[in-house]
Amino acid sequence: MTIGRLAVLRSLMSIKKLEATLFSNPVNIAYLSGFTGTAGCLLITAEKSYLFTDFRYLLQAQNEATEFTVVDVGQSAWHKVADSLALLGINLLSVEADHLTVDSYHRLAAALSGVTVNAVPSLATELRRIKSFEEQAALEAAALLTDRAFVHILPYLRAGVREKDVALELEFFLRRHGAAAVSFQFIIASGHRSALPHGVAGDKLLSHGDAVVLDFGCILNGYCSDMTRTVFVGSFSKRQQQVYHAVLAAQERALAQIRAGITCGEADALARDALAEHSLAAYFGHGLGHGLGREVHEAPKVSAAGNELLTAGMVITVEPGVYLDGEFGVRLEDVVVVEEKGTRNLTQSAKDLQVVGA
Ligand code: ZN
Ligand code: ZN
Repeated sequence: MTIGRLAVLRSLMSIKKLEATLFSNPVNIAYLSGFTGTAGCLLITAEKSYLFTDFRYLLQAQNEATEFTVVDVGQSAWHKVADSLALLGINLLSVEADHLTVDSYHRLAAALSGVTVNAVPSLATELRRIKSFEEQAALEAAALLTDRAFVHILPYLRAGVREKDVALELEFFLRRHGAAAVSFQFIIASGHRSALPHGVAGDKLLSHGDAVVLDFGCILNGYCSDMTRTVFVGSFSKRQQQVYHAVLAAQERALAQIRAGITCGEADALARDALAEHSLAAYFGHGLGHGLGREVHEAPKVSAAGNELLTAGMVITVEPGVYLDGEFGVRLEDVVVVEEKGTRNLTQSAKDLQVVGA
C-alpha cells in the first residue's frame, strides 16, 4: 500500500523537479509511511526514504514504516536531516509550506549549509485528494457507524434534553462501537441556535417546536465521517417545513448531478441555484462541501469560487444549509464518492422530515 504511494509521490516529485522533500505533517507522515507516532519527519528523495524520530518511537517506527530507514534524531532532527542531505549530495530541499512553522523553518535553514529550502504546497495533500478503494471502504465504514449513531440518538431527542448531553450520548455510542475519537466538536444547535452554522453543543435545552441541527462524525480505522441531519422537536411550522424541503431539494439536485469533470464551483451552483428558486440562496452562507479522509476537512474545497475539477475517487461532503437569523436553521450533509457518471452516497440515514419527542 505505502509502496504504491511512494512510487506515485516520486513520479510527482520528478515532474515537479523536486530532488528531496521533507514531510513534517503527522497526517501526511502516516499516509506515506504508515508511522502513527506524533513526533518525526520524513525525507524522501528519488532513491531514499528516511523516517527521523526520537527514542520514544524508534521501535514503533521500525514496525510500522517498513519501507523506511528509521533514524534516531538524537539532539536535533534538523541536523540529522542536514547530515543526510550532505551525504546524498542534495542541495535543494522542499518542505510543506502548509505545515512547517516559521520557527521550524528558520531552525532547519540554520542547520543546513549549501542547501536551498523551497516551501511548496504539500505533495501529500495533493495525493490524498483521490481515495483508493481501500480508503473508500474505510470511509464507508465510518459513515455506516455514524448512521447507526443517528438511529440511536433519535429516541433520546425530546423537549428538556440539554444539547451537550445529546453530544455526549452520540460520542459515547460512537466510541463504544469502535471509533477512536470524534472527528470534530459536534454541532448540536437547537431553536434559534440552529441558525448558527457552527453552533457547538451548549447548555440550551431542546424545546417544543425547535429545529435541531445535528452535525457529527467519528474517526474509525484512521478515516473520518461527517454527517448532518435536522429534526424538529414535537412539531414544525409551515415555514420550517418549506425551508426543510427547499434544503432537501437543493441537496438532492446536487447529489443527482455531481460527477467527475465538473468544477467545484459548478457543483456548488447546483444547490445554490435550487435554493435561489425559493429565494433562500442569500441564507446559504458557506460552500457546498469539502473533501473528507484522514482529516475531516481536506482538499478539495467545494465552494462557489472553486475552479478545481472534481475527479473520480474524490470523497466530498454535500451540505447545503439555510440559516435564518433569530429564527432557525436547516442543514443536511451526506458524504459521497465522486465517480465518472455520478456519485456514490456513503451516508444512508433517512432524510424525510422527522419529528422527535412527540
Ligand atoms: Zn458536518
Ligand atoms: Zn462537513
